[in-house]
Amino acid sequence: MRSNVKGWCPGALRPMEAGDGLIVRLRPRASRLSAAQALALADLAESHGSGEIELGNRASLQLRGVRREALSGLHRALDDLGLLDADAATEARRNILTTPIAKDAETLGLSAALEAALAEELDLPAKFGFAVDTGARAILGGASADIRLERAAKGLIVRADGMALGEHVSATAAIGRAMDLARWFHEHSDGHRRMASLVAAGSKPPLNAALAPLQGEPLRPGNTEWGCCVALPFGRLAAGTLRALAVASLRLTPWRSVLVEAAVPPSPDWIVDPADPALRVSACPGKPACGSATVATRELALQLAPHLTRSMSLHVSGCAKGCAHPRPADITLTGRAGRFELIRDGCADDPPALTGLSIDEIYALLRGPLAPPL
Ligand code: SF4
Repeated sequence: MRSNVKGWCPGALRPMEAGDGLIVRLRPRASRLSAAQALALADLAESHGSGEIELGNRASLQLRGVRREALSGLHRALDDLGLLDADAATEARRNILTTPIAKDAETLGLSAALEAALAEELDLPAKFGFAVDTGARAILGGASADIRLERAAKGLIVRADGMALGEHVSATAAIGRAMDLARWFHEHSDGHRRMASLVAAGSKPPLNAALAPLQGEPLRPGNTEWGCCVALPFGRLAAGTLRALAVASLRLTPWRSVLVEAAVPPSPDWIVDPADPALRVSACPGKPACGSATVATRELALQLAPHLTRSMSLHVSGCAKGCAHPRPADITLTGRAGRFELIRDGCADDPPALTGLSIDEIYALLRGPLAPPL
């Protein structure tokens, strides 16, 4: 079968241009980094890029501000760390999210076996992905994946995203059935690019689906039985922060957090309090990092965070694309021509309630009679 990854998704071998240089996105194997890999990445982020690192919503990690002339040296160093694929197509296919709450040989073995199976050429859309969610409970249901390996009361299941039930499988048969399902999608996608969309359109994946996953909750910041879950505001961390967290192996999550397999002291650079209002604000890099932005975003979002009531969410977006939070928020501030639009209960591109707001006017609104319910 000819290799042909449709669409485009940035990676280490296909970095993306941004206003502050190249973005080099990594997908650590099994969504984990050893302490030595994390320390080396912190050094590489500084020596080859701006030193800024971001966590992605599929447990990816990206180095920002990489200089084009530094790219080949960075590739060599990543290869030495075991963090580079053979080619861009293999890298794009290796779209696997592995649960942070398992370190059992079975879960890590399934993740490695799936990675090996995906090294075979297979036509799948760029964002098509897999979740190995086989800890004691399935906690990745809200994260992006099309084919899920999960734990049910009676053992493992393979489940197609969009279906409530999965097929009971043995550990030895699990990867084969997951790949059967991927091939079925390839042959029957009929223009759909995601499994849930195909299922919603009425297609029935060929699974003997009879078992529901044991559902668990996403990890919240704080101490857990697996280590300390540390959230990073906006999923952003400086190289020095990564270095400080690399006291043990790290498990990356899809929730802008890292599970450190050790105790972690408090720091203004990270969040371990699940009630911290900064956890309820989203903001893209904004100006000047993104060429589409006409406003700075993250500083404003952090300044507004203490004004949020306990359950309220805020999204500050550099433009109407809304990359950081492609879902409704209670309040969204969208940049347009150097000012802000205010949208209530909507996405960044929804019709605004207020337009042309300066930052001073946003602060005045917070105190005045027109105050949005922040
Ligand atoms: S939302 Fe707009 S400004 Fe923000 S990162 Fe996306 S494209 Fe750039």
